[in-house]
Amino acid sequence: MTATSDRALTVEQLAPPGPQLDPAAVQRTYELDRAHVFHSWSAQGALTPMVVTQARGSWVWDGEGRPLLDLSSQLVNTNVGHQHPAVVRGIQEQAARLCTIAPQHAVDVRSEAARLVTEHAPDGLSKVFFTNAGAEAIENAVRMARLHTGRRKVLSRYRSYHGNTQTAIHLTGDPRRWPNDSGAEGIVHFFGPYLYRSAFHAQTEEEECARALEHLEQVIQLEGPATIAALVLETVPGTAGIMVPPPGYLAGVRELCDRHGIVWIADEVMCGFGRTGAWFGVDHWGATPDLITFAKGVNSGYVPLGGVIISDAIAETFRERPFPGGLTYSGHPLACGSAVATITAMQDEGVIEHAARIGSELLGPGLRELAERHPVVGEVRGLGVFWALELVRDRTTREPLVPYNASGPAAQVTADLVAACKRRGVLPAVNMNRLHVVPPCTIADDEVRLGLAILDDALGEIEAAHGIGRAH
Ligand code: PLP
Repeated sequence: MTATSDRALTVEQLAPPGPQLDPAAVQRTYELDRAHVFHSWSAQGALTPMVVTQARGSWVWDGEGRPLLDLSSQLVNTNVGHQHPAVVRGIQEQAARLCTIAPQHAVDVRSEAARLVTEHAPDGLSKVFFTNAGAEAIENAVRMARLHTGRRKVLSRYRSYHGNTQTAIHLTGDPRRWPNDSGAEGIVHFFGPYLYRSAFHAQTEEEECARALEHLEQVIQLEGPATIAALVLETVPGTAGIMVPPPGYLAGVRELCDRHGIVWIADEVMCGFGRTGAWFGVDHWGATPDLITFAKGVNSGYVPLGGVIISDAIAETFRERPFPGGLTYSGHPLACGSAVATITAMQDEGVIEHAARIGSELLGPGLRELAERHPVVGEVRGLGVFWALELVRDRTTREPLVPYNASGPAAQVTADLVAACKRRGVLPAVNMNRLHVVPPCTIADDEVRLGLAILDDALGEIEAAHGIGRAH
């Protein structure tokens, strides 16, 4: 995490030593995958997964042993990078001491993980229910809110992702809900603030904020405030486009929830644990939700782990009354051990401060510079190591580079962008018409410069190939 140069070094200069390659083993991995592994969210027939042969820090190596700078953090989870030595050691030591113990017992590593998680949460949230991942955290948070309020309905925003279990997928406001939607679960969607494509014809952040809150208030009124248990909101919506909320929006959400006795569930599965340059996204706005869901960055995904951080008032509801939920692996020692090691490393190494500085000094300014040079970039937004470039065919009309939910030939240009990045040594994250730049929080300054230089070239390549930005 040191700055050494203002000019971009090359992949060859920056990538750590690669793996010892065994082409036959790589081929076998691929063939067994195609024969036996059933992949997420995909028609299986057309898949050609990249074989990964090694991962270290901000880098992964493909089946040919080529290093790729990981600007995706996989699924935005490797906040301390790949194979962080202290986290690997923490898992190894925990495995040697105690691999598993049922959730009804108290065990040192679970107690310590809960202490560390709540230490960084806003005041007044002092208990944790551990789950195996983010969707289960959402599922259980909603159950807590429903039991706490005695109400059923839940509000969530369009342009959101909350996970792949029954309640979580219904809460989701992106096309992954469509084939799973049984029109059930008592969920109602609303529009959140998104000035670049404002649902409210707003021109300024202030207007967008005020109108988004007026709209939310109307939805609450028309749905019947006394029927609404919870409002689920990604503090900074991630997969849907990294839309940083305008100042005042979260305070307005808090006020509406308080006025109507609605539980505010902040989904921090993607934006928590350093991604935004703060422990939690809500820290940027001094806002205090009633429940916070987390996963991913809590242990960089080294072992599956998620959870719900619970306000004292909601915890009180379940003091005498049983909470009707549980999981065999709730607070699994290996997962908790990896969380203790990760959070401790983040504290000791100043990872949060580093992510904030990368965002404000390098990544933010660097991406804005790219936008000046490339007409395909309609907007740059984000904070910390959580950035999106909104890609457009035309900056004036803001026509998206590919249509919403496009696939196949209609998404050729974004497929070309991914290929252009990978050919030059960057593993990018592309979602619909956006390039998400979401490296590990620990990315080094020189790696950021290299990543920006490669994105610059890759954007130039697709503009030239697809005639974007040429005078008509
Ligand atoms: N919530 C948010 C904001 C997410 O980004 C995700 C996953 O990307 C989830 C929930 C679901 O988490 P998981 O895939 O760990 O179940």
